[in-house]
Amino acid sequence: MRIDFHTHQTINDSELSLFNVHCADLFSEDKICSVGLHPWHLNSDSLRLEKEWMQNVVQRDNVLAIGECGLDKHCKVPWDLQMEAFKWQLELAEKSKKPVIVHCVRAQQEILRLLNDFNVEYVFHGFNRTLAMAVEIIEMGGFVSMTAAFLRTENGRSIARNIEQNSIFLETDNDLSSISEAYICLANIWQKSMDEVEQIIAQNTKRIGLKMF
Ligand SMILES: [Zn+2]
Repeated sequence: MRIDFHTHQTINDSELSLFNVHCADLFSEDKICSVGLHPWHLNSDSLRLEKEWMQNVVQRDNVLAIGECGLDKHCKVPWDLQMEAFKWQLELAEKSKKPVIVHCVRAQQEILRLLNDFNVEYVFHGFNRTLAMAVEIIEMGGFVSMTAAFLRTENGRSIARNIEQNSIFLETDNDLSSISEAYICLANIWQKSMDEVEQIIAQNTKRIGLKMF
């Protein structure tokens, strides 16, 4: 079973994919998904309504995770607004006992500091930074999710080889490539069969309490 941990594509080749829903319009009751307020789309005028929407859907069985949400130093949305929305979503994740899919751009220290105050499982999605940063996340109890494109880089290969296998997820995110490509990359890096990689990733979903199957 090839799990796509995080995708914005409605159609893909994964047997199980966690579709990211950032607004009410994209929400469907019969599709497993994560719901979250992405820092790029935050707006102080609509935040109250968006929080209401999230509160209304968070307990549904098809909503498996909160996110993507987080902090982004490269976007123009005011920092205070980003902080407010992220903290609120961490509270919601803690209350609803659902894992958090983290969007992080140049804000790892700030995010880890916040996460320290909440009893939540979390995954840094689209991870494409350094080995030291991956190790820091994992030592704090977090996970990283990577794309095929990143696993093809020297840096990505080195990270996948050197971190705990039970701390990894695979995703397509915005990429049009298939999730199978990411599984093939990881199988090559780990020198394991596809079956073995599939089993490890499936186990990892259980470790964070993600009820995908
Ligand atoms: Zn994404």
